[in-house]
Amino acid sequence: MIHFLKRAIVVGGGIGGLSAAIALDQMGVEVTVYEQAGEVGEVGAGLILWPNAIKALRKLGLGKEVVKSGAKIFRGEICTPAGKILSGWDSGDLEFRFGAPVIAIHRADMHKILLSALPPGAIRMGMVCTGFQQDDEGVTAHFANGQSERADLLIGADGIHSPLRRQLFPEVALRYSGYIAWRGVVAAADENLRGISREYWGRGKRFGIVPLGNRRIYWYATANLPSGQTSSAAQRKETLLRHFSRWHSPLKSVAVKTVIAATPAEAILYNDIYDFPPLSQWRRGRVVLLGDAAHATTPNMGQGACMAVESSLTLARCLADGKDLRSSLRQYESERMPRTAWITRRSHRLGRLGQLENPIACLLRNLLVWLTPDQVMKKSIEKAVGYEV
Ligand SMILES: Cc1cc2nc3c(=O)[nH]c(=O)nc-3n(C[C@H](O)[C@H](O)[C@H](O)COP(=O)(O)OP(=O)(O)OC[C@H]3O[C@@H](n4cnc5c(N)ncnc54)[C@H](O)[C@@H]3O)c2cc1C
Repeated sequence: MIHFLKRAIVVGGGIGGLSAAIALDQMGVEVTVYEQAGEVGEVGAGLILWPNAIKALRKLGLGKEVVKSGAKIFRGEICTPAGKILSGWDSGDLEFRFGAPVIAIHRADMHKILLSALPPGAIRMGMVCTGFQQDDEGVTAHFANGQSERADLLIGADGIHSPLRRQLFPEVALRYSGYIAWRGVVAAADENLRGISREYWGRGKRFGIVPLGNRRIYWYATANLPSGQTSSAAQRKETLLRHFSRWHSPLKSVAVKTVIAATPAEAILYNDIYDFPPLSQWRRGRVVLLGDAAHATTPNMGQGACMAVESSLTLARCLADGKDLRSSLRQYESERMPRTAWITRRSHRLGRLGQLENPIACLLRNLLVWLTPDQVMKKSIEKAVGYEV
């Protein structure tokens, strides 16, 4: 029991919001998640969860299920579009060192696991939060259907475009990375990949293939393009095939072209990639931000969702240990800000490197990656993934 926190509202039923609700519920706080989507659907494509996230999920009691539902990644490689391996690292070493594996999981499976850990009725779908008001006694969240809900704490886990962050800090501007991303999942003989996740680096574009288990493959692609492209699903698939059709084919069943061609156009997800420079504040009064709403990062290190789970645990612990709401939220900020800022900045720089377009710059980059000893590459990954909440 937390004496200054009886009831909390979470806006946003993504990985961050659900993890935060689970952590608070486990501490005896009455918590409700309000999600704008009408129903829990087949969300997203694949997700890579590094040892830092698996260990955090274990603390929520969900580690085993996540590992069981996903596929272990044994090795990661960076290759040229022609298939030459520039760099590689054994994820088995990471598991040995940090005590948790690297897992690729379908987002829908991840959501199911998180949802099943919440008490019945703890999530209300179709609730679009339009804003909040707060006073000394509590905070009231308002919803588009006219309803209002009151609580001691409001957690804004409403994603990178967070309406709650806009109300708290209207001056925060998103930063467009200069590239877009496509993602998909396709049924294919994932055992052909033998647990290896590969990212191909071309000129101004990248392609990733990740085994997802149960004969499914998660793929993603990026390309330097202006934001706000307006094209149909079919046109987008055509663009993708045009960009990547000549890329390396390790095996026919998992060739770049084959996995794109086998994915229905409407099932291909498309995002302009944004982040924002690290913020100096995530809270005001009884309202606090979490996950992408607080620390959105480009996906280059595969750490956005991992950090959202970490932040959820830290927030819950700070609330449990704190003497009042104000000092707990301050503690949460001071524990989480340095790490999330480091990852956001590093991921941004990594994206710039990966998306280089000039042929000479690309040649030099590839040479640098090829010459860098695997041990050095491993060290830089370890700092991100060896963290324990
Ligand atoms: C291409 C790509 C690949 C990625 N790959 C990885 C990866 O491999 N590993 C990894 O760790 N991370 C990855 N990420 C990052 C990861 O997806 C995010 O960091 C993570 O989903 C953030 O979770 P969240 O809960 O904070 O936000 P979200 O997942 O965005 O959830 C926010 C929720 O809030 C809801 N919402 C928004 N506004 C309102 C409102 N007004 N009222 C009610 N509800 C609202 C939304 O509907 C949504 O459900 C990737 C991201 C991208 C774009």
